[in-house]
Amino acid sequence: MNLPVRITLAQAMGTCFGVQDAIDMALDPEFKDRLTIVGQLVHNPQTTQRLRDNGVRIVERDQVDSITTEAVMITAHGASDTTKADLRAKGFTVYDATCPLVIRLHKLARFLEREGWFPVVIGEENHVEVRGVLGNLKRAAVIRDEKDLSRLDGESRIGIVTQTTNRLEKVQKLVAAIRNHPGVNEVRFIDTICQPVKDRQRAIGTLLDQDIDLGVVIGGFTSANTRKLAELILDRGIEAHHIERAEDLDPAWFAGKTHIGITAGTSTPQDVIEAVNDRVRKIVGLA
Ligand code: SF4
Repeated sequence: MNLPVRITLAQAMGTCFGVQDAIDMALDPEFKDRLTIVGQLVHNPQTTQRLRDNGVRIVERDQVDSITTEAVMITAHGASDTTKADLRAKGFTVYDATCPLVIRLHKLARFLEREGWFPVVIGEENHVEVRGVLGNLKRAAVIRDEKDLSRLDGESRIGIVTQTTNRLEKVQKLVAAIRNHPGVNEVRFIDTICQPVKDRQRAIGTLLDQDIDLGVVIGGFTSANTRKLAELILDRGIEAHHIERAEDLDPAWFAGKTHIGITAGTSTPQDVIEAVNDRVRKIVGLA
């Protein structure tokens, strides 16, 4: 006799307060048809479309000269002081939706620099959050993995922060590797992974403890934190699929599966999660 398929939703998933506050700001009727967002507000195609539908314009950071509105918004990922000052100097009114936890990261990186540490950001060099942090520092290194450790050659006092969406175990491994890097005498590590990201990562651990045999991870394909949630499942040898929307689900993934875990990154809206859950339920015959 076949056992009924179970579906378990992660205890913490979906849009975090930082992203939600930024979306709410951008959708404020005050800004209708008169706001340009510089960079992706969220790494999520559905939310980006909703913003566009509400008359919000979105430009990349190298397209500032094409902005035609007076009001511009800095996203939840933040930006350097220089970027903000440049925008003001061009005559824009800058509305800053930087998440408070990203502001904390900026402050701590500067604190380390002020105290004489060589600042190191563990993260992805081209991620907008990391670029914003680097823009406020005189000199710093970005370390993504062990291959980048040579960037620390010649430095002896290393002060480390991390991109807010990183995986704690990966960061701790890298901090240990930095401590052992030749020439490094002293290391100060400040954990700047944000709490909502930790909550979502911990909730994956709970799903894995409940013996899921398939993970469905919902979020934009460019969303760093969503990719990391999928990695956490794959690293335990469990099949996982990163999707952006319900239509991406392939019924073939569910053949023979008995316990499906569903989770979502910090910029995935609730209605997308519900649509995915509904379609999974239909595919496995629970609806
Ligand atoms: S993921 Fe964390 S740091 Fe980024 S916006 Fe959300 S709460 Fe803020």
